[in-house]
Amino acid sequence: MKLFRSENVSLKWKLTFLSAIAIFITYFVFTFLQYHVVKQWLLNEEEKAMKKTVEEIETYYAEKRNLSWKDIRQSKQLLEELNEKYQLIRVLDRKGNVVVSVSNGASISLSPSGAPKELQMDYHFVNDERFIILREPLHTSTVNGTIEIARRLVKFQRMTNMLFFIMTVIGVVAMIMSAFIGRLVAQNFVGRLKTLTKTMMDIKNKGMKKRIDVPASNDEMSELMVMFNKMMDEIERLFDQQKQFVEDASHELRTPIAILEGHLSLLQRWGKHNPDILEESLKAATQEVERLKKLVFELLDLSRAETITVPNDIVPIDPKPTIEQVVKNFHVLYPNFQFVIDDLSSKAARIRMTKYHFEQLLLIVLDNAVKYSQQAKQVTISIKEEERFVTVAVRDYGIGIPRDQLEKVFLRFYRVDKARSREKGGVGLGLAIAKEIIDKYDGQITIDSEVGKGTTVELSIPRGK
Ligand code: ADP
Repeated sequence: MKLFRSENVSLKWKLTFLSAIAIFITYFVFTFLQYHVVKQWLLNEEEKAMKKTVEEIETYYAEKRNLSWKDIRQSKQLLEELNEKYQLIRVLDRKGNVVVSVSNGASISLSPSGAPKELQMDYHFVNDERFIILREPLHTSTVNGTIEIARRLVKFQRMTNMLFFIMTVIGVVAMIMSAFIGRLVAQNFVGRLKTLTKTMMDIKNKGMKKRIDVPASNDEMSELMVMFNKMMDEIERLFDQQKQFVEDASHELRTPIAILEGHLSLLQRWGKHNPDILEESLKAATQEVERLKKLVFELLDLSRAETITVPNDIVPIDPKPTIEQVVKNFHVLYPNFQFVIDDLSSKAARIRMTKYHFEQLLLIVLDNAVKYSQQAKQVTISIKEEERFVTVAVRDYGIGIPRDQLEKVFLRFYRVDKARSREKGGVGLGLAIAKEIIDKYDGQITIDSEVGKGTTVELSIPRGK
């Protein structure tokens, strides 16, 4: 493990090494088991053959009536016939003396041992050679002795040696191949990681336009690449938006500053001696300062709206007292306007929004309704409940908005009629702020309008209990 901690070893080598080891260990365990199963099976086969031989000898002796040692001595030929290659068969009397012995390439000097009580199988190593020794008691009414069969495991040894050799060769080949496959796997994996790193470097050095060519495969790596591309698209979009915003904001700031500058130089040159110019310029300059102040405050509001986080445990509020309060204030500000509240909601209607943000939304839409009204100085505020939302609709009977521009009014600094809006003191940020706030609360703001007839802005705010 220490090896992998080394900072100089690349991921490619780590992966190659790990996958090679994994493949090799799997192969090794599998082969080891296979070798031992085959070996055991071969030994069983040898033992079975020996047992069969001893059974045949016993049957032969059992068939003889009054079996004597002489009969046994004379059975040498039969024993030779029954004997197999690399095997020794002998019959011992009770004291361990050899009565008859036949051998076919299996000379072994066996030390005498006591007569067995039942069939015995022993394994012996003699001169580096493996033997199985079978001892079976020979009991008849006339004879008491032991049948012994010793078998040299030459065939078994050859087969296991061969198996061992083949498995070792395959093992070495497997090791080389697993290293090779491991390397291929690593190359494939690391290759794609390198593409990712290279694209990141390109983005860092050359700008945000570059994206990764995602390979056709549908694995986690390509998923990561797709995600990366999507994330870069989003970052680029936000970056462009931010750039545009800064450009627009500085443009908006430049106009009142230029006007202020103009009036100040006018004052400096003529105003000191001409009371008319002094009066007019001071008035205009004050107006522009007022605009600047509004612009700066709205920019601040927008920036705050962008960072709103809505807590999960927000306490829902009753929208009606807030609406009534705001309408009351508007009534004081615009006494010639008529504000009608049309409440179709139940007493229990609650919205999941803070009072402060709800007030802010009402101020923006009511301010627009008043600003863009004409002769008909009436504004209706209706409240209704829907399945998921409480919807507050503000309707005016003013100039309206052309259909093709309805969507655009939510963009920052967008004004339908720039000159007119400016004249009314609008900076084009009100609806952008409203949208930003309502989006944060998972609500919706929609606008419907007809030129010359009026506008309805609907604020749909998630219901609370
Ligand atoms: P502003 O401060 O200019 O009013 P807003 O973002 O609130 O900015 O509105 C964007 C534009 O949408 C306004 O400049 C105006 O042209 C149009 N607008 C908004 N509300 C109304 C309305 N009630 N009636 C007509 N036009 C509207």
